[in-house]
Amino acid sequence: MNKQQLKEFKEALMRERAKFAGEIRAIAKEASKNPRDASGDLSAYTVHLADMSSDTYERELSANIASSEQQVLYQIDEALKRLEEGAYGTCQQCDKVISMSRLKAVPYTSLCIECQRATEQKKR
Ligand SMILES: [Zn+2]
Repeated sequence: MNKQQLKEFKEALMRERAKFAGEIRAIAKEASKNPRDASGDLSAYTVHLADMSSDTYERELSANIASSEQQVLYQIDEALKRLEEGAYGTCQQCDKVISMSRLKAVPYTSLCIECQRATEQKKR
């Protein structure tokens, strides 16, 4: 991968990072609108979860979204680190070069398509 390509991937990663960080903030803001949650009292929150009202469901859903976005954010940070170290674009599992089209679709991926598929199969 040449310098120009690395630069472009870095920019793509920074854009993704800003996007996900913004979404997490928006979700957190949405969740904090509910005054019941403002105290940060965990036991009250647990009781609240138990009654499974639609409001609870929605808030739980946004918590799930926030945590999966948090994970993507972590992956983006890891990808940026690899980019700095010169290891970007190499599969973390088998050391093969990750295809350009895959990196363009998911710039923060750390696995080649074969390893990604193998990981997903293991999960099932
Ligand atoms: Zn691989």
